[in-house]
Amino acid sequence: MPAETSFLKQVDRAFKKATSLTKHEPNLLTQIKNCNSVYYFNFPIKRDDGSLESIHAWRAEHSHHKLPTKGGIRYSTHVCEDEVMALATLMTYKCAIVDVPFGGAKGGIKIDPRQYSVNELERITRRYTFELYRKHFIGPGVDVPAPDYGTGQREMAWIADTYNSLANGELNSLACVTGKPLGQGGIRGRTEATGRGVYFGIREACDVPEDMKAVGLKVGLGDKRVVVQGLGNVGYHAASFLQEAGATLVGLLEFEGAIYNPDGLDVEAVVRYRKETGSILGFPGAKDIKNRSEGLELDCDILIPAALENQITSDNAPRIRARIIGEAANGPTTFDADAILHQRGALVLPDAFLNSGGVTVSYFEWVKNLSHLRFGRMSKRFDQAAGRRLLGAVKEITGHEFDETETTALTQGADEVDLVNSGLEETMVQAYQQIRETRLQVGGTADLRDAALICAVDKIAMSYTHLGIFP
Ligand code: NAD
Repeated sequence: MPAETSFLKQVDRAFKKATSLTKHEPNLLTQIKNCNSVYYFNFPIKRDDGSLESIHAWRAEHSHHKLPTKGGIRYSTHVCEDEVMALATLMTYKCAIVDVPFGGAKGGIKIDPRQYSVNELERITRRYTFELYRKHFIGPGVDVPAPDYGTGQREMAWIADTYNSLANGELNSLACVTGKPLGQGGIRGRTEATGRGVYFGIREACDVPEDMKAVGLKVGLGDKRVVVQGLGNVGYHAASFLQEAGATLVGLLEFEGAIYNPDGLDVEAVVRYRKETGSILGFPGAKDIKNRSEGLELDCDILIPAALENQITSDNAPRIRARIIGEAANGPTTFDADAILHQRGALVLPDAFLNSGGVTVSYFEWVKNLSHLRFGRMSKRFDQAAGRRLLGAVKEITGHEFDETETTALTQGADEVDLVNSGLEETMVQAYQQIRETRLQVGGTADLRDAALICAVDKIAMSYTHLGIFP
């Protein structure tokens, strides 16, 4: 496989570059880099027309330095061993960067889900889960899947149900998978978590005056012109939150092409239009760009690739005009393209940091399943009552009468979704600051990707102290 098309090679080259700036023992770095186990399997399914089809599937567990391992399941015709191994590797680094106590994993089934009926997809997903169970590649303390490209709540519900029926009364069985629907042990805020995390990460970067000065942009999101590639779970929510925060969406890219309007595109209206017509092309007031990849080169301040890997390559990188590239997808920028962007002074917010909101809220869901208790259930009313007592005391001292709106705002107890969003915001803000500081400490030519990987490796290395190798 040529170097620029192997996703795993891209990830390993970035690791090598970053760790060359550290003093870790080389054999320890090899252990951290290598993928521990890969399970490839094949199983037959019966199509609705009675024909038989052989399905190719994988699950890679990259690192067992912490258990369970964690990572999404992807349904796409691009799925292959190289891809699941690369994605599992990124998961290990991602979990370490945001202090989520998991090793990395990833799974995939080589199908185009649009070519299968719902019944066929259910049969495939349940059989996939059964095969993982048989080989001990799934379980609340073993390996916990989640949604990724081409999968969502529905598939996670099938996985949880299949596992539950096999696990025979295992108390924590719902924690075998995250991203589930609410009624089946899911958590509020998980669906939009990755996109919300992308927004928090970009907002944080745009709020640092030195970082904005370095790329020649003003502080804040208000004047930023944004292009988003992929209007799926991650891209749609990221676009939505950025628009809500005042940024202008000037370009949107999907499978069928791209649309551009320098005055702004309303993402809700575009998604509605696509549902009605089957395409974003022809959206009123926007210019159509038939060749979707040209959309990446549109004039904008922030480019958010939120589709698949290898989108920005050494071929198109010199033509990318955005000053900030927010990697919402995994591996959208090849190693060589990254060097070109860096040379041109662009700020790349690396995937292992920027799209970690999904695994962060998955972690909250896993903890909720293990504790069998909804976040906020014990404290909400107590906090409300404490707030009311405080307002009463303030009124007594000052004579100020609080109206209904003020009282509600000042005495509100936190619900599950408030706590999840607050935990996510704290995680993204802390992680950005930590990566930024590490970059400053390392100095030289280190970029944010180097710094993020160094943060990850430093933390993972600590897990190997029992081998007598001290970081
Ligand atoms: P999704 O299936 O919900 O959406 C992907 C969208 O991208 C689809 O609408 C698809 O039509 C579009 N697309 C595909 N190729 C395209 C192209 N060349 N140009 C324009 N649009 C294209 O997938 P998702 O869950 O949003 O995942 C997107 C990326 O984010 C993946 O790299 C995934 O690994 C990463 N990610 C997802 C999560 C999550 O929680 N879902 C978490 C972390 C990272």
